[in-house]
Formats: sequence, structure tokens, C-alpha cells
Amino acid sequence: MNRILLFSALIGALGLAPAAAQAYPHKAVTVVVPYAAGGPTDKVARDLVDSLRKQLPRTTFLIEHTPGAGGTTGVSKVARAPNDGHTVLLAHIGMATAPWMYKNLKYQVQDDFEYLGLITEVPMTLVGRPGLPPSDVADLTRWIVANKGKVNLANAGNGSASHLCGLLLQQALKVRLTTVPFSGTGPAMAAMLGDQVDLMCDQTTNTTPQIESGTIKAYGVTSESRMTHSPTLAKLPTLKESGLRGMQITIWHGLYAPKGTPASVVDRLNQMIRAVLADPAFVKSQHAVGAVVVKDARMGGAEHKRFVEAETARWGRVIKASGQALTN
Ligand code: ASP
Repeated sequence: MNRILLFSALIGALGLAPAAAQAYPHKAVTVVVPYAAGGPTDKVARDLVDSLRKQLPRTTFLIEHTPGAGGTTGVSKVARAPNDGHTVLLAHIGMATAPWMYKNLKYQVQDDFEYLGLITEVPMTLVGRPGLPPSDVADLTRWIVANKGKVNLANAGNGSASHLCGLLLQQALKVRLTTVPFSGTGPAMAAMLGDQVDLMCDQTTNTTPQIESGTIKAYGVTSESRMTHSPTLAKLPTLKESGLRGMQITIWHGLYAPKGTPASVVDRLNQMIRAVLADPAFVKSQHAVGAVVVKDARMGGAEHKRFVEAETARWGRVIKASGQALTN
């Protein structure tokens, strides 16, 4: 028997399979979050990973924060990662907005990923620093006009949810505000609590605890109707009822693997995600901060992909109309 045959016979006898055929997952799974720690995407990732750890107690799940360029640095990193299912991306509406904001995006949203399923949806809140004088949207509008050129608006970089919501706010108010980009709204919130930035639009995932403790000014939510299921958020008017038009926006999060990840691994990941969405602890934790867990066909990759395509077209029209310039 030559050496190769002897080796295969040995592997067979020991019941070992080559790495490619090993059951997935057979090593640590890394969830890439394209924003800084302490923000809304990080919160979804932490709840997700907690739930995955219960499902697969012997697998290590890691969260890797890769902020930069409005989240696009982390997304391109996953587009080029090994396509074995051990690196996945948790990304939000930025998948649909970035193609309209960056000239040299290093990935194709439709072509470079396997779509694993949409997981959560959440509205945003317009919030202000603790010492900001206005107490409601009407006051705020007057204050912004009176302080023209001096008001600033924090966001998580071009293409982020906070940036998109900020564009809608400026369109609604017909004013230009100075934007201050951060690596995520986690650090932006810290700056806001320190009275260093005036305003921000952020997901309720990140603002609910601050609104609850009364540490920031909260002006309204971007949902269609009041968030009656949340004792904290129910007190806030919708921005629509406060007279800010065109500010209804829902931020969605989904999971992606690099293109070419084997179908069996994509299926396994989708099963794992569906189990997370059925986990009462995950549902409760997201619900507590104003997010809802997806429970429709978008839990599957095909419908998730169609949804992102439709969102890309929809936000493309809004972004073009806003006059937002393309960046590199
Ligand atoms: N989701 C981002 C974050 O986690 C914030 C944003 O998109 O505005 O920081």
C-alpha cells in the first residue's frame, strides 16, 4: 500500500473526516458587527450570541467590532472572509444605503453574500443632549432655526441608520445641520451624555435605557404609530404627529455569510437563526428596547434578499432626492 492509501485507510479507520466534510460548526464562529461596541447593532449581536450559545454550548461564538466608513469597512471584511460559515456579518439598513453614498464600495450587496435571514426591526428616536433647551418638536424646530449654523447632529458615519434618519430630519426641517460622525452610536451616545453633541437619531435599542432614566431629551419616534407596548416609549409622540413629515423609518438587521458558503452550511445557519427568533429570551430582550423579532418569510434567505433589493431601490430614491454627495 502506498503512503497516500495508507493515510486514507488510517483516517477511515479512526473515523476522521477531512476538514471540509466536518459537521458545521467545527470551530469558533465570529459575528462581525460593523460598528463600535455599545451601540444598537452591538446589542442585537450580544442577544443573538447569548441565544446561539444556549443552542450550541460547545461552540465558541465571538463578536468582532469592525467599525469604519459608516459600517462599510466591516461589511467588506466579511465579503472577503473565508466562505466556510465561521465568519458571519450582522448588518442593518446600511446594506441598502451605502451603495448610494460611496463611490468605491468594495463589495456588491446583491452578489457578494449569502443571505441568511432578517432578524429584527426597530424604529428610531430623535434625542438631544441633557442640557438642550427645547422640550418638544415644535420648540426644537424654533430653536434650530434660531441657532442656524450652530446646531450639530451626531451619527455613525455616512450610510448608517443615524445618518439616514438625520438626512430625513434635515429634509423635514429644510435646514442643514453640522454632522459629527462617530464609529457607532454607542460612542456618539457617550458624547451626547457629556453635552458634546446636540442631537441624534438613534435606534430605540440604544436610547430606551437613557430615556427611561431621563438622562437625555427625547422628542419623538419614527414609527407610524405610538409604541404602546413599551411603557417608556409609549410616552413619546411619533415625529409624524409632531409635524415632521417623511420621517417614518424602520431599521432592520439581517445576517450574511460570504458568497460561496456551502448550501448545507447556509441551511444550518438559517436553522440556528430561526431557533434564535423562537427563543423567548431573545424576543423579550429585544422587545424591552422597542425592537420586534421578524416572524415572516424574510426569516429565509430568498425573501431576505428580495427585501434588501426593494429597500435599496427605495432608499436610493430618498438619498438622491436629499442631494447627499457621494464619498469615496
Ligand atoms: N447601528 C449603528 C451602531 O450600532 C448606528 C447607526 O447605524 O446609526 O452604532
